[in-house]
Amino acid sequence: MSRPSPSSTARWQPRHRDIAAVLCAATLDALHPAAATLAKHPFSLTCRVGSGARTCHQLRPLDRWGLRQTHLITYGAGMVASKLGGERWQSHREIEQRGYFGGTLTPLGLLAHTCCHEYAHALHTARGLRRRGAVHDAAYYALLDRLHHDGHAEQVRTALQQRLSSAGIVLPTTLPPPVAPAATPELAVGDPVSFDYRGRTFHGTVRRINRRSVTVIPLQGGEQGWWRVSPERLYRRVAR
Ligand SMILES: [Zn+2]
Repeated sequence: MSRPSPSSTARWQPRHRDIAAVLCAATLDALHPAAATLAKHPFSLTCRVGSGARTCHQLRPLDRWGLRQTHLITYGAGMVASKLGGERWQSHREIEQRGYFGGTLTPLGLLAHTCCHEYAHALHTARGLRRRGAVHDAAYYALLDRLHHDGHAEQVRTALQQRLSSAGIVLPTTLPPPVAPAATPELAVGDPVSFDYRGRTFHGTVRRINRRSVTVIPLQGGEQGWWRVSPERLYRRVAR
């Protein structure tokens, strides 16, 4: 699963739903037949369009006994609206920091990478590597890297481009400026942060970036619940 950094406020329109349907088709036709070998064993894959922003991979039973399962990827129409509207997600950071598509963010590359991100979750799970609480671990990123380095990501991007143009959908060539609180342009969900309050330093992890505040969850025991902190007071810690 990947989450938006800001609270996802983008309203989706029918064309965002159409684009999400194209993501489904490209995943099933361009990605799965070529990249499923990375899972070592064949696995069943289903894709669907979600009505919210939620975009995720799940394992679902195909029969009442759960003997047969399918990997289900949901592409939210709201996610498409959010990403095309300039809201930053984890996928932005992955493209920039891991140098996917040359490290350049474009609407088409961002959507193609979204397919790869979710498909890598399916591979990670199908290979039995997924552990509780370690969704985006080193094994996950090794698979995501393979999808890019082996050319699968490029194939998805091409397939998306073709399918979008035959559906008469034209994506913008550039993304709008990022929508994020001005004081925290570089802050993202999952970042380790600290802030000082009444002479004490508190450490936590960014849980959510709101319009005027950031929700931070305490790093470890002893502290309960969560804090809402104004972004100007937060500073990033170097991840351990
Ligand atoms: Zn994810």
